[in-house]
Amino acid sequence: ELADAYNCPVAYYQADSLQQRNLDLQLFADLKHALHNDELTLWLQPKVTPDGTIQSFEALLRWPRADGSFVTPETIIRLAEQYGLIGEVSSKVLSQAITIVQQFRALALTYPVAINLAGSDLLVHSFYNALIDVATHQPDLLNQLTLELTENSIISHKQPLFDKIHALKKLGFNIALDDFGTGQASLSMLSKLPVDKIKLDRSFVKEIPHNPVQVRLVQSVIQLAAALQLKLVIEGIETDIQRRFLIKLGCKQMQGYFFAKPAPVAHWLKQLATGKVNRAVTL
Ligand code: C2E
Ligand code: MG
Ligand code: MG
Repeated sequence: ELADAYNCPVAYYQADSLQQRNLDLQLFADLKHALHNDELTLWLQPKVTPDGTIQSFEALLRWPRADGSFVTPETIIRLAEQYGLIGEVSSKVLSQAITIVQQFRALALTYPVAINLAGSDLLVHSFYNALIDVATHQPDLLNQLTLELTENSIISHKQPLFDKIHALKKLGFNIALDDFGTGQASLSMLSKLPVDKIKLDRSFVKEIPHNPVQVRLVQSVIQLAAALQLKLVIEGIETDIQRRFLIKLGCKQMQGYFFAKPAPVAHWLKQLATGKVNRAVTL
């Protein structure tokens, strides 16, 4: 199967020691090199309606290594944050996402593309200014760009970050709250931030439908989103059983391996250009 051709990133290593520090430094040197050689790339995973029709895409960072493995985005981001390269990484992500939007437009496609940001990214002036630049000089792109922020990355920074998020919303960016439900303060986030969309973390659907507590939790989040007039995407749908059950609960937007795994941009451009496939799967 096509999707299976694209391997998921695997943990590059995991250790907590001097040895890890050395590995980190080596990997960081490689990362710098990769960044400047344009080896970091974005893959796309669609967000779909329950019948598989593609609504938008999420851009996920990929760093392929010479041996065919991938460094996880979490590792890239951790290193970049640790060694002060996060602004550059995120600027690269932003500019690649803009390129993708323009490639879509060249095919008369208007899919929005979401990029993932750590909250702390917005406190890096160069990156924040890059976002302001987009809003100022290419405002027509705004309705096709979404910023996904995880609750956990926002909570530790508080007010200065909240102010930036409000400013970006005012400028016209769409804001999504990622990994919803896993943070320390999901509900308070909703009352403090100008969020358009929440993405329910995949841990909440893992045991759907046989875990009755999960069923009721998901049901309440669907109601919560409706009450607050927020769009809701449920992440991590891996089976048709989950899909069917979530439809019954009222879920309108989904994302997950059942529909499509993340794949290179060229894969989607090819599929979408043929015109016949605006669906991630045929059901
Ligand atoms: P996320 O934003 O919540 O993205 C969803 C992750 O779950 C992705 O992993 C995706 O490949 C995976 N996934 C999607 N559907 C399924 C499914 O049905 N089952 C399972 N088991 N997994 C699924 P990935 O690409 O490894 O990214 C992991 C995290 O790294 C992302 O979580 C996001 O927080 C972060 N990340 C990725 N790209 C970037 C980036 O460009 N910048 C920043 N700051 N963070 C990024
Ligand atoms: Mg995300
Ligand atoms: Mg998520």
